[in-house]
Amino acid sequence: MRKPFVAGNWKMNTDSHSSVSLAKDVAAGTSEIAGHKIDVAVIPPFVYIQSVAKVLSASSVAVGAQDIYTEKQGAFTGEISASMLRDIGCTYALCGHSERRHVIGEQDELINKKVSAAISGGLLPILCVGELLEERQSDKTGEVVTRQIKAGLAGLGAEKVSAVTVAYEPVWAIGTGLTATPQQAQEAHNLIRRLLGEMYDGQLAEEIRILYGGSVKPDSAAELMGQQDVDGLLVGGASLSADDFVAIVKGAV
Ligand code: PEP
Repeated sequence: MRKPFVAGNWKMNTDSHSSVSLAKDVAAGTSEIAGHKIDVAVIPPFVYIQSVAKVLSASSVAVGAQDIYTEKQGAFTGEISASMLRDIGCTYALCGHSERRHVIGEQDELINKKVSAAISGGLLPILCVGELLEERQSDKTGEVVTRQIKAGLAGLGAEKVSAVTVAYEPVWAIGTGLTATPQQAQEAHNLIRRLLGEMYDGQLAEEIRILYGGSVKPDSAAELMGQQDVDGLLVGGASLSADDFVAIVKGAV
């Protein structure tokens, strides 16, 4: 049985005050279910991670980072390592979020190094994959997602891959208000699970959690979660409202 997992990606939003109060409200609203019925995480901007982690330390809500660098330490101006993030209370790290792929220009090879660095540094990577609108329209979803999964996990053995969560996030659904239908999500998640079974083994594929992300709202959470291979949700815009995010977490149990 895969425990459901809902994570809120705050992207480049909030400030020193609102990040802490949002985190407190999420912890209060999910206190009866977080940790035992469902894993819950918030993913603030780097600069607010430490204060958010502090207010969440007495709760079962985990903290994640939106990105990491590939190296442990050294002359890499502006970058932040997995071990630094772990040191300030992070559990998870997004790797290859679509905005990093398509706005910043990250390629599969770099994302693969980040997944590996996250695991070596003691973080649990959330590998994000998903197709562009034109790729879906030209029937390339399977091809694109297969390439991103194979490249993102290249060189990692089953033991390391068991630390990974996959997030399927069709790029055309992120921040657009368009959500994949539950059937479209299920089809992509099933493809990913079968692929993991071919790359590793059936048991590992059954254990890995695959989250859906793309304009998830309180009213779409339960139906998406009702799909066999949808194990959780990666929520962007709606995670900036404690009420909406808590409702999504409750809808995902
Ligand atoms: C995301 O940032 O991963 C995301 C899914 O954003 P949104 O929910 O706003 O589409």
